[in-house]
Amino acid sequence: MIEPMDLLVVGSGFFGLTIAERAASAGKRVVVIDRRSHIGGNAYSEAEPETGIEVHRYGAHLFHTSNETVWEYVNRFTSFTSYVHKVYSNFKGEVYPLPINLGTINQFFRSAYGPDAARALIAEQAGEFDTKSAQNLEEKGISLIGRPLYEAFIRDYTSKQWQTPTTELPAEIISRLPVRYTYDNRYFNDTHEGLPTEGYTAWLEKMADHPNIEVRLNTDFFDESQPLNKRAIVGTVPVVYTGPVDRYFDYAEGELSWRTLDFEQEVLPTGDFQGTSVMNYAGPDVPYTRIHEFRHFHPEREYPTDKTVIMREFSRFATRDDEPYYPVNTPEDRERLLKYRELTGGEDRVLFGGRLGTYQYLDMHMAIGSALSMYSNKLEELL
Ligand code: FAD
Repeated sequence: MIEPMDLLVVGSGFFGLTIAERAASAGKRVVVIDRRSHIGGNAYSEAEPETGIEVHRYGAHLFHTSNETVWEYVNRFTSFTSYVHKVYSNFKGEVYPLPINLGTINQFFRSAYGPDAARALIAEQAGEFDTKSAQNLEEKGISLIGRPLYEAFIRDYTSKQWQTPTTELPAEIISRLPVRYTYDNRYFNDTHEGLPTEGYTAWLEKMADHPNIEVRLNTDFFDESQPLNKRAIVGTVPVVYTGPVDRYFDYAEGELSWRTLDFEQEVLPTGDFQGTSVMNYAGPDVPYTRIHEFRHFHPEREYPTDKTVIMREFSRFATRDDEPYYPVNTPEDRERLLKYRELTGGEDRVLFGGRLGTYQYLDMHMAIGSALSMYSNKLEELL
């Protein structure tokens, strides 16, 4: 074990590893613990044994950023392929491009509108409700893109995500629904986009590969039978904690609510199941929201051609024992979060970060960017 330790990082996701790497490069001795049996948090990926195809165990992860500092930083550990993400949606047995664009509109309305005519049509259809006074998600959705497109691409997909009819969901869940009046169906608008050439796990391992970093897996911060637990450590050494903030305080202010995902993985005896990496299923006819087909993330790799790996994704509210994925963020959650934020200020040399530690959905580039800022703005002076 690294002795004496200058910093304990709880959680080996992108936030924790960025903190660990920065501190280690500055000569500090860092121990990273994770309760899972692998590093990398939700970005972890592994080769499916039968086919060798890289599978993202916690759902498809696409890297994209317009933050030049983050882009420069991540390129120290991996190169990126030229993969450009595109998503399609299966609605009533017909496949449309997303986000909704001129191609989607013309296919849906069996028409050949130009941008101005399409814009005028959607504005007219959206006039049914006023965005500002929308009473629920359904009214808001219609006020943004009109009823026909809303009912086809948003209503049932969103109900499946939340297991709740959209008439019973708050309007504030959506602020905007992108519609492009061009045929551009590139999913992300960022300057940089791609997938790590050697895979996510190789990238994450490279970040942890430093003589000043020791990673201990299967180690829970709240398990007092292991030495690096909360009671024994807090106050003795600086800690960066990236686990759930409510768990840290033993749920003293109540539980923050999350949605989780269930994945059903299958190897199919075909070289190509759906011709693309992600297919949404917009309708209520199937219970899953999308199907990922991983070989399409790396068309540059050689795989045996006769088999493919698909993963169906199902969404539901999380219980305490589930993996927390997306913050639900109800008004009660926001009140609780404020109380937890007050409590975090009272902890001796413990900094809270990452998506679980701040109860915030963070893309990878945001988690990395936020860790870089925490390191230089707060942590450096504590070490
Ligand atoms: P995490 O990756 O969750 O890491 C936290 C770690 O803390 C975990 O390994 C956990 O085991 C550990 N931990 C928790 N409690 C304890 C404890 N008590 N003791 C020890 N260890 C503990 N981002 C993108 O940019 N593009 C995408 O396409 C994308 N897709 C996503 C899809 C899904 C389904 C989800 C959920 C997220 C997606 N993200 C995506 C976001 C990405 O996963 C996050 O940005 C990233 O995981 C944040 O890193 P983190 O370190 O904050 O958290």
